[in-house]
Amino acid sequence: MTFSSLSHLECSRDGSRHDADVVQGTSPIGAPLLARYDLAQVADTVTREQIGHRPPTLWRYHELLPVRSERNVVSLGEGMTPLVDLPRHGARLGVPRLAMKDEGLVPTGAFKARGAAVGVSRAAELGVRGIAMPTNGNAGAAWAAYAARAGLDALIAMPVDAPEITRRECVVTGAELYLVDGLIGDAGALVRQAVAARTGYQDTSTLREPYRIEGKKTMGYEIAEQLGWRCPDVILYPTGGGVGIIAIHKALLELRELGWITGDLPRLVAVQAAGCAPIVDAFDAGLAESTAPAAPHTVAFGITVPKALGDFLVLDAVRSTGGTAIAVTDEELLAAQHQLARDEGAWVCPEGAACFAAVGQLRESGWLDGTEEVVVLNTGSGLLYPDTVPVDVPTLAKDGVIP
Ligand SMILES: *Cc1c(COP(=O)(O)O)cnc(C)c1O
Repeated sequence: MTFSSLSHLECSRDGSRHDADVVQGTSPIGAPLLARYDLAQVADTVTREQIGHRPPTLWRYHELLPVRSERNVVSLGEGMTPLVDLPRHGARLGVPRLAMKDEGLVPTGAFKARGAAVGVSRAAELGVRGIAMPTNGNAGAAWAAYAARAGLDALIAMPVDAPEITRRECVVTGAELYLVDGLIGDAGALVRQAVAARTGYQDTSTLREPYRIEGKKTMGYEIAEQLGWRCPDVILYPTGGGVGIIAIHKALLELRELGWITGDLPRLVAVQAAGCAPIVDAFDAGLAESTAPAAPHTVAFGITVPKALGDFLVLDAVRSTGGTAIAVTDEELLAAQHQLARDEGAWVCPEGAACFAAVGQLRESGWLDGTEEVVVLNTGSGLLYPDTVPVDVPTLAKDGVIP
């Protein structure tokens, strides 16, 4: 039986074909490489019903993932996160059919685990000794964890301002960690230098290796499967490097080509923080690529990406599905985070919270009319960001009184 129907890699700009069975970075022209599958073979090998009986991890879609041999799967049980109805919060926002795909429940507490599980598995399968990457925190923590699980070395560089917990996650799993006095792009330049000087290390920066996106696309498969193999009307995604939204788009296109879903794709909405919104600016200006903002800053650290290598793919995903791009302020996203927690008991990360703030604004502007089925991706747990909730409560003496 065929475990993976991976056929080749394709340049996302010029469509040229490349060998999938050697370690690859970007295409010769510097663009992300996308994994392509023999979908006819997938359709001959497995049915949606059979997938439904498999264990609840992202590996249930293994025919559509790049790992050739089951022996090489590196897993901590990631995937098949709940799609949670949010009736009270939805009613408040005027969008009663609101649901959240909660990625706070995967290992390491952010959806980055999906990309790491598949990326590390495939790197190990292709003989890589160590992975190396810049990160805003969560990706580095996830790749460090899966590298440890796979027995690979991990070299991680993150801005000093990245969430502190993610440093600790890298340290506890034995990664070689550097803090950089700069932004993720600065960390990336340092990592590229180091990789050039080492043997057996692969640069696994965002979209500079082909398989992280394959792990992340399983969010799209799961949303379709969890809705009974159909799509919601709208999906909102907090967009940094853009891999998540590009990946969900890719997943749904694959499912449609397989005939496992039919009809229009959901309108995809890229949500950014007002302090770093290059995709929104490019969308509003009708441009195909983005320009880095001067002084990017937001509490939603995971989406502080001034210039994404895959910006043109994000803009295409948004435009081709009739979606939009929208920015919200830190004040708005923190207010949304607190309101959601009070309404539904869910403490989401600030990036996820940005999407809830965006739902409210899109409803107010009329872009959403309130009848749509709307799915928000909460990309991580609020527990990773304890500082987003100030605590101002009384401390009582032992013989004090509770009023
Ligand atoms: C990385 C990250 C994002 C952004 O994801 P991209 O795929 O890079 O666009 C959003 N939320 C959280 C919590 C993240 O860690």
